[in-house]
Amino acid sequence: MGAMTPLEPLPPVEVQAIELVTVRLPLTTPLRSAAGDRTERTVLLLHVLAREAEGWAECVAEAAPTYAPEFVDAARLTLRDHLLPRAWAGPTGDALALGPHLDAVRGHPMARAALELAVLDAQLRAAYRSLASWLGATALAVPAGASLGMHDSTEGLLTEADEAIAAGAARLRVKIAPGRAAAPLRALRDHVGPDLMLQADANGSFRSDCPEHIEELDRLDATALTCLEQPLAPDDLVGHARLALRLDTPVCLDESVTSLATLDTAVALGACGILCLKPGRVGGWVQARAIHDRCVELGLPAWVGGMLETGIGRAANLALAGLPGMTLPPDLDPRGRFDPDLADRRLPGADGLVAVPNDPGTGAAPFDGALAGADIVRSLAP
Ligand code: MG
Repeated sequence: MGAMTPLEPLPPVEVQAIELVTVRLPLTTPLRSAAGDRTERTVLLLHVLAREAEGWAECVAEAAPTYAPEFVDAARLTLRDHLLPRAWAGPTGDALALGPHLDAVRGHPMARAALELAVLDAQLRAAYRSLASWLGATALAVPAGASLGMHDSTEGLLTEADEAIAAGAARLRVKIAPGRAAAPLRALRDHVGPDLMLQADANGSFRSDCPEHIEELDRLDATALTCLEQPLAPDDLVGHARLALRLDTPVCLDESVTSLATLDTAVALGACGILCLKPGRVGGWVQARAIHDRCVELGLPAWVGGMLETGIGRAANLALAGLPGMTLPPDLDPRGRFDPDLADRRLPGADGLVAVPNDPGTGAAPFDGALAGADIVRSLAP
């Protein structure tokens, strides 16, 4: 794989208003993880209204600070009081210049990612360029990976697995927690056979100083997983490095990697064999492209992780999933997470693949009427 070309500057747009749009949607399939049950999503959209075009982006912050410290009410407040004033005072309509300008605000990568992407989306639509082609995507379509929640019974897990496979899932990723890892994965492996790609995601729920936890991960090692994702706490990089030496299963990091610098640290320690890349977690699509490029340099396998996005966020993730270094199937649940969705759900076609959008920008905007009843806060250009 050759070196990636630098991101091309785009003509700035003249931003006239930016809206924070909040809407709540029920999930078609509830998802239970080590952090608790999710049955609905509070969706925060960024809507940029520029003279040349509009832009849309979805902020992936969740209702509670359980995946990351950031949560949706905090993201809205950070945008309103800190990021939007800085954007208005800086290069508002030029995403590549705006990103470094927003670095004055520490943390809050999901809020920042959404603002940057909404501006970028407007620029790309004005320039009639797709996000995928601008980022350097080479795939026209990608396989759909499904995420399965934890279940009270093995039968429940196997039933959900059958549903996801029937809908076209190319791989299954299963949420696990201490005491609910080795046995359910063994049953699932026996049920689906040796060839289906299986991953487990612990969301940092195991502890490196707990012998019972490590013993359970040793037993999980016998289920031929593609990777074990974020077994330990996000800041326990040395623990992950020790686990990577102990297990045959590659250790995948998700929550731990919040920047190019943390990826470099994790790789230097031997803590990261595979990367789950979520643009919201690393501050946006420009940062995600830089991290992708490092994965290519290092030969590190990577895949795009999902945050229960609507069709708006899925389209933007698909653009990233089409990059040549994204070598494993992305999270694109083939069952769709919302029905109705805010935008095209981007489900797999008859070939089991999901098309990478090639329309201008992300290629996604809310359906007419989809935002009826949404809470909208509008910030006008000064
Ligand atoms: Mg994860």
